[in-house]
Amino acid sequence: MAGAQRDSGLARLWAALRSLARSPVESLPSRIIISVYAAALVTSVLVTGIATKSTETFLRSKIDERFPALLARTRQRLDTWYAQRELDIATFAASSTVVDSLDAAKQVSAQEARKYLAYVRESFPQYGALFVMDAAGRDLVAIGMQPSMPSEQRQELAALRRPGVSVMHGEGAARYQLISAPIHREGRLLGTFHAMVSMERVEALLHAEDFEATTRIYVVGPDQRVLARSPGAPDRPSYGRRLPPAGGTRLVEDYTDAAGAHLIGSAIPFPRFDWSLVVEESYEVAFAPVVGVYRRVLAINVAIVLVFGIVAFLIARSIVRPIRALSDGAHRIAQGETEVEIPATRSRDEIGVLSRALDAMVARLQRNQEELERKQAQIETANAELRDANHELRRTNEMLEQLSFTDGLTRLHNHRFFQERLQLEIKRSDRGGESLALVLLDIDNFKLLNDRYGHAVGDEVLRRVAHAINNNVRETDLPARYGGEEFAVLAPSTPREGAVALAEKLRMAVRKARFRLDEDGVERELSVTTSVGVAVYAGDAKGFFNAADQALYEAKAAGKDCVVLADA
Ligand code: GH3
Ligand code: MG
Ligand code: MG
Repeated sequence: MAGAQRDSGLARLWAALRSLARSPVESLPSRIIISVYAAALVTSVLVTGIATKSTETFLRSKIDERFPALLARTRQRLDTWYAQRELDIATFAASSTVVDSLDAAKQVSAQEARKYLAYVRESFPQYGALFVMDAAGRDLVAIGMQPSMPSEQRQELAALRRPGVSVMHGEGAARYQLISAPIHREGRLLGTFHAMVSMERVEALLHAEDFEATTRIYVVGPDQRVLARSPGAPDRPSYGRRLPPAGGTRLVEDYTDAAGAHLIGSAIPFPRFDWSLVVEESYEVAFAPVVGVYRRVLAINVAIVLVFGIVAFLIARSIVRPIRALSDGAHRIAQGETEVEIPATRSRDEIGVLSRALDAMVARLQRNQEELERKQAQIETANAELRDANHELRRTNEMLEQLSFTDGLTRLHNHRFFQERLQLEIKRSDRGGESLALVLLDIDNFKLLNDRYGHAVGDEVLRRVAHAINNNVRETDLPARYGGEEFAVLAPSTPREGAVALAEKLRMAVRKARFRLDEDGVERELSVTTSVGVAVYAGDAKGFFNAADQALYEAKAAGKDCVVLADA
């Protein structure tokens, strides 16, 4: 039972889904649900889009401010640091010990210069190595791990006229730089002073207070070689993007690097060395809050859409259920049903008004239908009565008609009918020239029979004689009871001989007939004879019957029980 209910519920749900899929906008609830869903969806998409866009714009404006400021501060710090280093080296290069050690006239030993360098290095531990070259590029004195360098570079360094920085390309990445200054005496270049500084010292400067862990700064040389990177920044030999020219605008752009990572970054020139400073951040990381906002807003919107959908569904159902019941009812009424039940409702809204109106309509329809059926039944009864009366009338009519043509005792045609047919056949014979014969039979001594056996026996005899006559004539002949015990047969298409034969046949038939009767307990047989007059029509309409009658009279006169043919 429960299974069957569940099955029918599932079947209904399936049917509803199928009809929804087939005509998604035809049913009222689906129209309501789709409209509300569409409205909620459009709103939520717009809200999500606007929230995401505005967060992105806000973050972008923050980055647009933060990146250039960070680069400017970093450039300032680096500039100050390098200026300090150049000042340091210029000071060391100008020290009398160093200058004198290069002046042959001063007789200062390399040993003394070395002492001085050792002292400097102790006081300024950031310098990894210090060395002095003579004007020809030969090392005069050195302290610390001096880098090996090709002779061209050595010649270049030896010809130095102003303090400068040159980056040493060590194994793999450039990890060292030389800060150099010329050593002069009275305008004469005696040699050069060089201090080697680890690039890590510079890289330490790339880490600022407000620096975010995911932000990286690179120092890029003129040939796009990456000279230094902020701590934690991924190692990369080359920057690989066009750099802004000296004095170029500070632009924050987002782009995809060679490895396919989506980045946002900015660069400014570092004019001191024809270098550039680059700041970069992963786009995803920089805009991670956007994704967060997007997810949150999306979740809220999905929830809103769901809630709207459920509310729309409930509203649709609460409106549509009664409407559907009403429309079903209306449909059935339109199909001609009257036993339609309209669900009762007490609500005062339009549906309530509609359902009460429909209910009243159904009630009136039912009353009218009942009235109609009652009237129809009345009409049918009256009709049946009328039919019966009609039938009765017809039967009576037929009987009357029969009676008017028939003799009641013998069931042969009566005198009147015989007379009519006699006139008709005479006319037909006149027209067509057909022969027409008339045979008249009169029972002999019938009065005696009546007197002896009574009237009832006489009647019975009359009936049997009529029967005998009727059995011996043709279909086209017309037998009739002409008078009390007189019979006539009108025989069309019958000539003289035929007429005499017919008369003889009839006379014999009556004569042979035996009538059994019970007289005072004794059973007896009796018979009757007839006298017969025959006439054949010869154009004298008036004399035709009389001729036959005369012949009958003659037969009586001749002794009865015989046939007499009238003269032509
Ligand atoms: P005939 O041989 O000369 O014809 O003599 P008849 O006695 O037959 O002739 P008649 O004309 O003298 O008598 C006819 C009788 O037939 C008179 C009447 O009582 C009888 N009769 C006439 N009609 C009926 C009838 O309907 N029923 C009965 N039972 N008798 C009838
Ligand atoms: Mg008679
Ligand atoms: Mg008679």
